[in-house]
Amino acid sequence: MAVLEIKNLHVSIEDKEILKGVNLTMKTGEIHAIMGPNGTGKSTLSAAIMGHPSYEVTEGEILLDGENVLEMEVDERARAGLFLAMQYPSEIAGITNAEFMRAAINARREEDNKISVMDFIKKLDSKMAILDMPEEMAERYLNEGFSGGEKKRNEILQLMMIEPTFAILDEIDSGLDIDALKVVSKGVNAMRGDNFGSLIITHYQRLLNYITPDVVHVMMNGIVVKTGGAELAKRLEAEGYKGIRDELGIDI
Ligand code: ADP
Ligand code: MG
Ligand code: MG
Repeated sequence: MAVLEIKNLHVSIEDKEILKGVNLTMKTGEIHAIMGPNGTGKSTLSAAIMGHPSYEVTEGEILLDGENVLEMEVDERARAGLFLAMQYPSEIAGITNAEFMRAAINARREEDNKISVMDFIKKLDSKMAILDMPEEMAERYLNEGFSGGEKKRNEILQLMMIEPTFAILDEIDSGLDIDALKVVSKGVNAMRGDNFGSLIITHYQRLLNYITPDVVHVMMNGIVVKTGGAELAKRLEAEGYKGIRDELGIDI
């Protein structure tokens, strides 16, 4: 079992404090969801975990099995088993999707244990079938000319190929039609298991109808204000964020 611990995390962007002391612990085998209104710092949290250079951690800790993640470079974090599916995946010219995934898989393997071309193709075919993706998507340049839905589906393909220890999925549901949403959920559900944990960030409850979280955190104004089970997401759908604000006496 692996543990990802976020302790009293404070993060600033251009000297403006966005995260004001986030506490959150998750283990492999669990799926956590973070919900919260727009602008509360959900993407900032994922960027800080992955080491985006624009986000300055001013206080607190991120520990992966007790190792200090904040001291790791971005590529070291990926090698240590962290994965981020971004709200807005970027295009990378000149590298195909398949090349990218093979390099990412091999980056996590020892020199004498690299994945063979045959094994890679077999694995790729099986995962693309689960996600209902056309074969040619693998040979296209990464995210170049991909539609919004294709980008999201592709993020899940990368997830299934790379098999990280912890995946942070930032608004993977945004802009998806219902069929794409089901496919993306199928991919995440297929990853569920003792060696995998996921932090699913979403503004809406909709995705959580397909991926049932073990733990739900509500984030407001840069901190986690409430943590509960899957029923908390249902409650948010029924009451909006107002119910939580009223309960906790939060005036933001
Ligand atoms: P969420 O993902 O919850 O919608 P974000 O983490 O994207 O929220 O943003 C939190 C706050 O940080 C917002 O007020 C947003 O305007 C601000 N912010 C995010 N990114 C930047 C940036 N690059 N420069 C300045 N402010 C930013
Ligand atoms: Mg947002
Ligand atoms: Mg966001």
